[in-house]
Amino acid sequence: MERPGAALYLVATPIGNREDITLRALRVLQEVDWVAAEDTRHSGQLLSHFQISARLISYHEHNASRRIPQILKYLAAGQSVALISDAGTPALSDPGQELVRACIQAGIPVIPVPGPVAAVAALTASGLPTDRFVFEGFLPLKPRQRQARLQQLAQEERTIVLYEAPHRLQRTLQDLLVHCGPQRQIVLARELTKWHESFWRGSLAAALEHCLAQPPRGEFTLVLEGRPCSEKAEELSPSEAEVRQELARLLAKGLSRSAASRQLAQRLQGSPLWTRRRLYQLSLQLEPLPSGDPDDEAESLG
Ligand code: SAM
Repeated sequence: MERPGAALYLVATPIGNREDITLRALRVLQEVDWVAAEDTRHSGQLLSHFQISARLISYHEHNASRRIPQILKYLAAGQSVALISDAGTPALSDPGQELVRACIQAGIPVIPVPGPVAAVAALTASGLPTDRFVFEGFLPLKPRQRQARLQQLAQEERTIVLYEAPHRLQRTLQDLLVHCGPQRQIVLARELTKWHESFWRGSLAAALEHCLAQPPRGEFTLVLEGRPCSEKAEELSPSEAEVRQELARLLAKGLSRSAASRQLAQRLQGSPLWTRRRLYQLSLQLEPLPSGDPDDEAESLG
């Protein structure tokens, strides 16, 4: 069994249900010299629940630059430090990443002690594809960066996992709807592992309606469907006007409706929307060729 030496331990703690703490997390928290916590009061309660007496120091976004040299000094003196966040895995959507980088630069081992992560809990229970996904954390708040990120996300084909504060949820759903369209599917994973855990599943339009009717409370992780293939196909496809024009050109060259549809369908292979049958049906709406094509009307693309 390992003994904490001079190392930074990234210890995951529960995201709600205290039973989710791991045996290894409990042991490491008990054995380390220091526990660096985002909110020492909140983490103090967790530690005392498990009867762990630890020396706590605060480490959060407002004191990170001051605290990093102090923590590095402890580590350089051979002491061990565990980093914990308010909930879940530290260094994910919190200032822990800066401390991790500083330790790596200083040649200090960084040891993960894995456990709960809201993003993974939400993703796996969402029912949306999990084979490829991206973690987006919180969307930027500054308008220009937010707009740019939303534009990128609208094109993303993988499942997207986002964190959001309850008071910003409506706004975020509105922005996602504008960029990704009302039909894109989303799962709102609320209060994961807690008493009021719930999963709401539906379109972005319905999600927004749901949140307007029932102002969001509690913690939310959002799992958004990636850009569906059908959207891509529509974009890759020529418009109906363009297809009509091309069909008319082929017919004017003397091709039968059947031959023109077959030829165009072959050229449009990348577009599942323009099948040979659909092209033939469209060709029937076009002006008959001056020379006539007696066999045409009887032809079927079956
Ligand atoms: N490090 C954490 C983790 O491993 O998931 C996340 C920290 S991030 C600062 C906090 C955000 O995580 C919340 O705003 C919420 O979006 C999400 N979150 C945390 N706990 C949650 C829970 N029990 N249910 C749903 N989302 C949660």
